Amino acid sequence: MSIGFVVSGICISLLINMVYFSKDKIRSYETTLYGYLIIVNLIGSMLEFACVIVCSIDTSPLLLRDILVKEYMVFLVGWLILFLYYVLIITCETYNKFRKKLQKITTILFVIGAITISILPIEHINIGDVVYSSGLAVNTTYLFSGIIVLSMLVVMLTHIKKLRSKKYLPLLAFLILGTIVSLWQFIHPELLLITVMESYVILVMYFTIENPDVKMINALNLAKDTAEKANRAKSDFLSSMSHEIRTPLNAIVGFSECIKNADSLEEAKEDASDVITASNTLLEIVNGILDISKIEAGKLELVETDYNIKKILKEIVRLIEARIGDKQLEFKVNIAEDIPEVLYGDHANIKKILINLLTNAVKYTDEGYVSLDVKCVKKNEICRLFISVKDSGRGIKQEDMSKLFTKFQRVEEDRNTTIEGTGLGLAITKQLVEMMNGNIVVNSQYGEGSEFKVAVDQRISKAKIEKEEEIEEEVDLTGKKILIVDDNQLNIKVVEKLLKQYNVEIETAESGMECLEKIKSGKEYDLILLDDMMPKMRGTEVLRRLKVNPGYKTPTIALTANAINGMKEQYIKEGFDDYLAKPIDKQELNRILIKYLKNNHSTNTNEDISNEQAINKALKLLENIDVYNKNKE
Ligand code: ADP
Repeated sequence: MSIGFVVSGICISLLINMVYFSKDKIRSYETTLYGYLIIVNLIGSMLEFACVIVCSIDTSPLLLRDILVKEYMVFLVGWLILFLYYVLIITCETYNKFRKKLQKITTILFVIGAITISILPIEHINIGDVVYSSGLAVNTTYLFSGIIVLSMLVVMLTHIKKLRSKKYLPLLAFLILGTIVSLWQFIHPELLLITVMESYVILVMYFTIENPDVKMINALNLAKDTAEKANRAKSDFLSSMSHEIRTPLNAIVGFSECIKNADSLEEAKEDASDVITASNTLLEIVNGILDISKIEAGKLELVETDYNIKKILKEIVRLIEARIGDKQLEFKVNIAEDIPEVLYGDHANIKKILINLLTNAVKYTDEGYVSLDVKCVKKNEICRLFISVKDSGRGIKQEDMSKLFTKFQRVEEDRNTTIEGTGLGLAITKQLVEMMNGNIVVNSQYGEGSEFKVAVDQRISKAKIEKEEEIEEEVDLTGKKILIVDDNQLNIKVVEKLLKQYNVEIETAESGMECLEKIKSGKEYDLILLDDMMPKMRGTEVLRRLKVNPGYKTPTIALTANAINGMKEQYIKEGFDDYLAKPIDKQELNRILIKYLKNNHSTNTNEDISNEQAINKALKLLENIDVYNKNKE
């Protein structure tokens, strides 16, 4: 009868292995483990079969019997340990996190079990056609198995909630059935029931928790739900964006029309300042969208440099004061004296975080005050900045607190209708703080005010940062010559207009090739504003070709709409002298013009080059142009 159980166990196991491995299935850690369970079960069933055959032959060598039976018992313990590991992985996420540690522990357990079983004595009993084994090795196997089954029971009972799900019933069934069968076999050792019972358990599991078809359908449903959710989020995003973008755009178009038809210069100037305000709002929205999409794609990296924190705080204060404008708000600023002069970190992120929090404080406070407090605690090389932005504004309801940092989520929408916003600011702020391993907390009393507190670590730098000169408002650069290279005529027009007040001589080029030809023809400039994203030849390529000539010293500024965090450093690495983002910030343009033209920074030493060098330069340039023309063909 026993051999019948063993053979039926092998058949079931073989069948499951064949069906399971021939099917397409979801690849997951859980299914891999199940795969191991059924393979090990098949090996065990065959081992058991071999044991029965060898032990029933009276003349078979004792050593062979010992080895085979002990191997079989090692299999029993091994399979149970694998099953315990499987149960741990599927019942609790926490165990999943410590997979590696668990693997080590279970392997050690298995090795201890295998060694103990291998060295303990065993007896083989043949009474008529009844064959079984006993002795210390067998009893130890029962003991180990009992401990493992008990551990499984503890794990399952501690995660009873998950087990309530019907599909986990086979695991519970295994425990109950396993205990009964093991006790039965203990009393009747000639009945070889354990392996066949294991085969039945994996068979039941195949039709329940490990069914590849069901798993595939579940995975497909999950993917469908996720895709639908993403689609819904995208639609919501588009409709909210369309509204947010249209509002300032409407103002820009409307006021521009008014400027065109304005009766007086005064009137036109007033409308123009509204156009600027609306454009800045639009820019903020676009930057917010770019930031959040970069963060979500995991493409936003920290750009760490030395920076002067007090200077940055000063800039922010100036900006926020401008935002407060006519609002009856007191702006209290308290910056601790002991904050180190130069820090090392991502100052652009710090700036963004502070601007977001302070802009919100100003937006959502009608009267009273907005305060900025910056303190620090220094330890060795690290300076922990404690930033607090407090206001006496409308406050946030307790039930809305959890929505604050969710993107595109604005709270109190009905009260917010007149306040511009996308619901992105705090989501970006939180992500940026977390990127810098800091944290952000909020305290708020509805109707009384809010306080946002941020703590971030920055390294204290020993570097000295050159004091930048105060930027003058009006500079006359008569006699200086600037080349603007941009494929878009409208962009050229904007730069020309912005440069008008400086009295500079302007030349334009609408492509990289035109720029190269101008320089090749011997024209000289004091500054080149070079757009990067041009068709046919990018600005970076133009610069590379210009720099082939070692005598090329004209300050070349990257003029680009590629304005994400870290781009400035990238362009400077590529050889540009500086970087000007589109839309052009007037103050930034002013800074660049002063830096490179007013202080005679321009070291256009073309004249210094010897004739021979000049000829070489021209030849190289011609060569480059030829190569380019050929490529184009
Ligand atoms: P936005 O300001 O663009 O709507 P945010 O993500 O910056 O988006 O803020 C989300 C919401 O949190 C805002 O809509 C506003 O209702 C609320 N909120 C943020 N800061 C404050 C604050 N200082 N006081 C009151 N409410 C605030």
